[in-house]
Amino acid sequence: MSPVGIGMTSERTRLRMIERLRQQNINDERVLMAMSNVPRHLFVDEALSHRAYEDTALPISHGQTISQPWVVARMTEVILQDDVPEKILELGTGSGYQAAVLGQLIDQVFSIERIDKLTKPARRRFINMGYRNIRCKTGDGFEGWASEAPFDVIICTAAPEKIPYSLLDQLKEGGKMILPVGDKDKQELIALIKGEDGFSQEKLGEVFFVPLLEGVVR
Ligand code: SAH
Repeated sequence: MSPVGIGMTSERTRLRMIERLRQQNINDERVLMAMSNVPRHLFVDEALSHRAYEDTALPISHGQTISQPWVVARMTEVILQDDVPEKILELGTGSGYQAAVLGQLIDQVFSIERIDKLTKPARRRFINMGYRNIRCKTGDGFEGWASEAPFDVIICTAAPEKIPYSLLDQLKEGGKMILPVGDKDKQELIALIKGEDGFSQEKLGEVFFVPLLEGVVR
C-alpha cells in the first residue's frame, strides 16, 4: 500500500526522529515503519521544513498546528492496539500528516477539516504522494461523515471540551473513538469503546491539542 512518489529528502533526519520515538517508548514497529515512510517536511511550510523532524508541534496556517510526532505515534499505536481497523474517520485534517500516517496502515481513511483553506492543500498532498485510500472534505467534525458510517475507529486531532456522544452513533459495535477532551489548560486523551449496551472508557494521559470548534470556515 506504500504510496509512490514520496521523496526521500531528509531521510537521515527522519530516521533520527524514528530513533527518538523508540527512546520515548513507541514500540509498535508498524507505527515506526509508517512514520519513516511519510515525509513530514512536506506537510509544513517550506520556511519550517528544516524543523519538521523535531519532536514538536509546528504552526501550519490559520492558527492551527501539525501535531507533535510523539502524539501522532501514540495515537496511531492506540488505534492499532487490538485489530487493524479497516475504516477510520479523523476529525481535524490540518496539514494531513496524521491521515497520511494512517493511510500507510489502514485501507480506508476519511478525514474532515473545518477550514476550507487547509482541506485543499492537504488533499493536494495526498494526491501528489499517490494515496488512493484517503478522502477528505471540508465540514464540521461534530457532525461526522454519516454517509460513510459506520467506522471502526473515529479519532479527533483537536479537543472538544466535552465528549461529543452523538458521534458514537457512527461507530461500529466494538469500535472505538480516541480523542483529547478538555480546555486549553487541561486535556486528557481518552479512548471510548462501544459495547453492546453503552461504552467503556480508558484514560491515556495528558495531552495538548488545539480546540475542536463548531462550524465551517470558507
Ligand atoms: N491531524 C492534524 C492536526 C491538525 S490541528 C495534522 O496531522 O496536521 C487540528 C485541526 O482540527 C485544525 O486544522 C482545525 O482547524 C481542525 N478542527 C477544529 N475543529 C474542527 C471541527 N469541528 N471539524 C473539523 N476540523 C476541525
